[in-house]
Amino acid sequence: AKDNGGNCYQIYDAGMYQRVAHKVLLETEVREAIVQGQFSLSLQPQVEINSGRLFGFEALLRWNHPKRGLVSPDEFIPVLENSKHMIELGYWVIRHSIELLKQLNEAGYTGISIAINLSAGQFVDPGLYRFLVEQAQAFGVDAGAIELELTERTLVEDIDKTLETMHKLRDRGFSFSIDDFGTGYSSLSYLKKMPVDCIKIDKCFVSGMLDNQADMQIVMSTIAMVRNLGMKVIAEGVENRAQLRFLKSEQCDLVQGYLFSRPICETVLMEELKTKVSR
Ligand code: C2E
Ligand code: CA
Ligand code: CA
Ligand code: CA
Repeated sequence: AKDNGGNCYQIYDAGMYQRVAHKVLLETEVREAIVQGQFSLSLQPQVEINSGRLFGFEALLRWNHPKRGLVSPDEFIPVLENSKHMIELGYWVIRHSIELLKQLNEAGYTGISIAINLSAGQFVDPGLYRFLVEQAQAFGVDAGAIELELTERTLVEDIDKTLETMHKLRDRGFSFSIDDFGTGYSSLSYLKKMPVDCIKIDKCFVSGMLDNQADMQIVMSTIAMVRNLGMKVIAEGVENRAQLRFLKSEQCDLVQGYLFSRPICETVLMEELKTKVSR
């Protein structure tokens, strides 16, 4: 047991060193990566459960690193969180997402929205409001078609400042969704104070709900509560028809997941749309 403890300590220590080194490396690489066009967005459809109509796309960040290959956002976003690089990268994501929405509109996809993920650090940046308003104007896109996805973490950062920014953006027409609902700090009391339009049930509950009573109860009561509060509810991570049927019977509004489509690389999506339009 003693040996084991020693090993654990060493592993932990090495891991920590690696994480620190990784962070430094990532931060220096990000700026260059933006300039060199290593980032791109993949778009995943969000579908209305009753009509089957396309509601919009969620923009998901991809980093095609020259040496490491495709790096998952789960790997680099937590590392960059609270750094100025995340703000800069976040601006890139916002501008590019709005540009893609404009291109989608031009390709004939009108009346759809784009969902943009915002990290907690980004939301306390005083420049965010202006940037969003300016970019929507610059691309001639209706702010009503822009859904900003926040996590429960953002909502506890600086609640007064967050609320103020949310209300200002809401007045300009932007919408808000709470992402990964149920996995973070329980902030049910915030729900009634905040101008939120939509709640996203995390995929961990959706993937477990047909086998696990607790997950099922969480999904059912979240849908009921959200609807009673007059908001919309999206289930993420829907992978099969049985899950879809259950969500439909519970009157979930929107669904997103591999059952409909994996996130589609922006260039692939745009190529497909172009050939469709020119046909
Ligand atoms: P998220 O916002 O909860 O996004 C959903 C994740 O689930 C995405 O992973 C998506 O590819 C994946 N997914 C979608 N449908 C299914 C399904 O049916 N089954 C399974 N197993 N997974 C599914 P991805 O693209 O790797 O992104 C991971 C996380 O990285 C996101 O989780 C989000 O928190 C963060 N992220 C991605 N792009 C951005 C961004 O531009 N800004 C910020 N701040 N965070 C981002
Ligand atoms: Ca999201
Ligand atoms: Ca909207
Ligand atoms: Ca999630």
